Amino acid sequence: MTRYVRHSIADIETVINAVLHRVPDNRTLINGVPVGVASLRMRTFAKKGTCCKYCGLQATHFAVEKCAGSKQDIYHVNLWGVLDGREVLFTHDHVHARSLSGADDLNNSVTACENCNSKKSKFENKIRLTLPKGTVKIKFKTLKKMIEEKFLQDHIRNFFFIET
Ligand SMILES: [Zn+2]
Repeated sequence: MTRYVRHSIADIETVINAVLHRVPDNRTLINGVPVGVASLRMRTFAKKGTCCKYCGLQATHFAVEKCAGSKQDIYHVNLWGVLDGREVLFTHDHVHARSLSGADDLNNSVTACENCNSKKSKFENKIRLTLPKGTVKIKFKTLKKMIEEKFLQDHIRNFFFIET
């Protein structure tokens, strides 16, 4: 299923430079198309690098794209890598999940491929189900302790013990 309509490919250096030298709140031209480069997602790619923090997959290119089905001509840039001959979308991940009260800032954000990101989300949902009803805040330290105690057999625990 095609999620995006592609306008063009852009090399990593060009886009990262645009993020690092962005004018606040302004859209930037990439391949002649205005795109936003100030989001936390884009800043994470620029500051934390373009390889997946969890599996090490290296991204290879950006693409100027818009959502399939969108009638408006509003484009954004997506980061892509290639695994087994297929493109893999890159995103950013909140190490301490937003849904488990993690912060929405650069300190808590790392570059992740979509495969790792979705595995980690499933794991976080599993954790959420074990929390007492009504729990809205959980400290990262507590979260790590729970993972050590309850989920030690699960390889996904590694997601929570990386250095950011
Ligand atoms: Zn990955």
